[in-house]
Amino acid sequence: PQIDVSELAASAQICNCNGVTKGKLVQACQEGSDTLAAVCAATRAGTGCGACKPQIHAVLKFAMQQAMPEPAARESRRRSMNKIEVYKEEKNGLDVKADLPRYAVDGWETITDGDKERLKWLGVFFRRQTPGHFMMRLRIPNGISNSAQFRAIASISSDFGKDFTDITTRQQIQLRWFEIDQVQDIWDRLEPVGIVSIQTGMDNIRGIVGCPVAGLTPNELFDASPVVREYNEIFVGNREFTNLPRKFNVTITGCLDNCTHAVTQDIALTPAVKSIAGEEVKGFNVTVGGKQGSGGFRPASDLDVFVLPRDAAQLCSEITLLFSDNGLREARNKSRLAFLIEEWGVDRFRQELEQRVGHPLLTSGSPVGSEAKSDHIGIHPQKEAGLNYAGLVVPVGRITAGQMLEVARLADNYGNGEVRITAEQNLIIPNVPDSLVPALEEEPLLQEFRADPSPVMRGLVSCTGIDYCHFALVDTKGLALKTSRYLEEKVDSDLPALSINWSGCPNACGNHTVADVGLLGKKARVDGNVVDAVDVFLGGKVAEALGVVTDGESSVKTLENVPCDELPETLAKVLESLKAAPVALTV
Ligand code: SF4
Repeated sequence: PQIDVSELAASAQICNCNGVTKGKLVQACQEGSDTLAAVCAATRAGTGCGACKPQIHAVLKFAMQQAMPEPAARESRRRSMNKIEVYKEEKNGLDVKADLPRYAVDGWETITDGDKERLKWLGVFFRRQTPGHFMMRLRIPNGISNSAQFRAIASISSDFGKDFTDITTRQQIQLRWFEIDQVQDIWDRLEPVGIVSIQTGMDNIRGIVGCPVAGLTPNELFDASPVVREYNEIFVGNREFTNLPRKFNVTITGCLDNCTHAVTQDIALTPAVKSIAGEEVKGFNVTVGGKQGSGGFRPASDLDVFVLPRDAAQLCSEITLLFSDNGLREARNKSRLAFLIEEWGVDRFRQELEQRVGHPLLTSGSPVGSEAKSDHIGIHPQKEAGLNYAGLVVPVGRITAGQMLEVARLADNYGNGEVRITAEQNLIIPNVPDSLVPALEEEPLLQEFRADPSPVMRGLVSCTGIDYCHFALVDTKGLALKTSRYLEEKVDSDLPALSINWSGCPNACGNHTVADVGLLGKKARVDGNVVDAVDVFLGGKVAEALGVVTDGESSVKTLENVPCDELPETLAKVLESLKAAPVALTV
């Protein structure tokens, strides 16, 4: 579009550093770049201040929106957009907050379809299974929480819910059963303990996953949790990041135990070292474009980039905004970053990123860490002598208010009040002195949340399932517990620890594509009747041991349409055969 950007640039009051970038912008205009696109490109290529460039870019984007084509053309563009893009164009999701008081008075039935979607920007989810009762997803960066937060969440679930919450595979917590007029009361209880729910749904950066024992484990290259916090602070509440083409998953980890599913994330920062000016420095390698839902699993691509911890949060922001500006928006099932990477190729994506940050990026370093995965369950010594962390299994991630209060008490009495949440829906109580470990092991809660679980309970993960998710085709949590309890009785004794992950639909929230044993819920026709069933995927060393050929990245569908009624016996046979397998299995 042709508009007078010289005037816009000259009047912009947006550079609060040294004015270099703004200068570039004005210069580009004076040199005759009379389209916004050209000015954008000139600005990106400039060497100006990295801090104000994103702001300038946002102003340009806004100007481009103002210069949109005539109404007819605009209407035609609207028709080609998917419904969610239309909702986003009408109103930023965060702005639905202003409508909440009205909905609280008028009732949930008056919430428009558009606002039901926009409420997810606030972390408030209308549930078709429980009309009038909502779910709230709480943002807990890196899964680092504490006893005060657990007490607040327990009190909310008692007062407004049904006395339980769910731990998610993104280290977050989901509250259920509250009503729309209780949202503000819930926020009022969360705010003093430092929890927000915004941007935890829809086209936002979801909870940033990190190693749950970051800063504690001796087996890490460095503590990456400060980078998680820095990135979180950049985008939470920042409207530049609230209109992504689709959801955006990120992990940032310095752990050497491969504990955060890096291969499935839109951005994964994993530990690496690189020789720079003769000195070996620590940082991250960067992969992009991993996903599980939206057409199936796609492993993240190596971007051939090494980034220092001090630059990492800003680099994540630039990758996110590159996706925001260029990601495909027509079809929801083609809008994840993976599809942009496939369209452009990794080399072009890297070049565009370099243009955006305004300087060449370092090529990747040497990755450090193991292929084998750790779940941090059990009692382990920390890097600080005399202290330990206790990793406790919360079966399928469901926890009652009473159990949360007990976790808070144990964290205060045995540790320093911290509680960590894992991506396997489990909990960790850190900073337990050697002298208190025996007493902690005797606590009644550790009979329910075991530090020494059976192999088939230890790695059990389940998505929400049919009770509260309208995509679900089976009762994942119920079936997961029933099946694993059967396996505990029948085949437990000599098995290695296994990850057994359940998803109720192909959206794959239960990470079934990257488990030793993955179960995907479905409906199947058996003898003319439609029944609850699963496809069984085998991955990693389990697949290897049973002779299933995999690409080493994802699990492979090995059994199809297994009726849920028959699954426990079928899985028992599969696992029995592992006992005779020649491959030594590890967690
Ligand atoms: Fe719902 Fe499917 Fe995600 Fe399970 S995997 S929580 S059924 S969307």
